[in-house]
Amino acid sequence: MKLIDWLKASFPVQQIKKNEVNFNCPKCSHSSFYFNLNKKIGYCHRASCNFKPSLRDLIDLKGYGPSSYYLEIKPEPIVDKEIILPGWSALDDKWVIEALKYRGVDHKAIGKWQIRASHFNIYIPVIENSKIVQLVGRAVDRNKIPKEGFNTSIKPKYKYTEGKSISNFILGWDECKEWEYIILVENSFNAIAWREKFNCSTNFGSNLSEAQIKLIHKSKIKSIVLAWDADAINKAWAAAIKLNKIGIKTSIIKYQKYNQPDEVPFDILEKTIKQLQNTTNAPITYGPLIMQV
Ligand SMILES: [Zn+2]
Repeated sequence: MKLIDWLKASFPVQQIKKNEVNFNCPKCSHSSFYFNLNKKIGYCHRASCNFKPSLRDLIDLKGYGPSSYYLEIKPEPIVDKEIILPGWSALDDKWVIEALKYRGVDHKAIGKWQIRASHFNIYIPVIENSKIVQLVGRAVDRNKIPKEGFNTSIKPKYKYTEGKSISNFILGWDECKEWEYIILVENSFNAIAWREKFNCSTNFGSNLSEAQIKLIHKSKIKSIVLAWDADAINKAWAAAIKLNKIGIKTSIIKYQKYNQPDEVPFDILEKTIKQLQNTTNAPITYGPLIMQV
């Protein structure tokens, strides 16, 4: 069915002049409503109404559209733009090197993770299948000494680049998909600092998306310790249940005195994680395990 025939069948068409089809306004019923066949947009000339529906809006209104419309719909092209790295290598930036030292990220890690810097941000490239798929930008305040540099009122504190949302990824996935167990934290810098110490990574926040659960499901990972922040305990519990359903043994760190893992003295954190690993690696676990620090 052509557009014009669909309009005639769907609305009380009064007249057609060139490309303008006139019928009563679908919103206010006034007679001065025109639909332009070329622009595929309607317009109500009554000042108090001003209804300006697209063809899509009219189709929504009717619940069905002209067959020509459906034939014209093409799937949206998947935008796969190359991500341009911003700023410069953090290895060339003394202030950033010093600031990252206080987050436990050393010179070697800066190189390994290809961490970048600009005047206002530190950037961590997120790489999957050897390709940069996202960028985590963390605002910093260079007017402060490096130790205080992460304390900034700049908003947003975190920013990402165009393209697929950060919730689709797990940091350094090419490497961690080969592991048997993984510790997930919320913060990227914690994840980098603890990477070599206990198979640490981040899911960038306190939620495991369906996409991330799929990644885990397809990987060699068999057990996961969720070391998210204290306020995310319920979310961690919900994620653990989902992981259990796909056969991943899961345990959660719960905090008594602290708010987040990097506040826990490192030896205690390490000991707790080791204990949790041993327990989750045992032949049988029933649901998520919780360990308190
Ligand atoms: Zn109207």
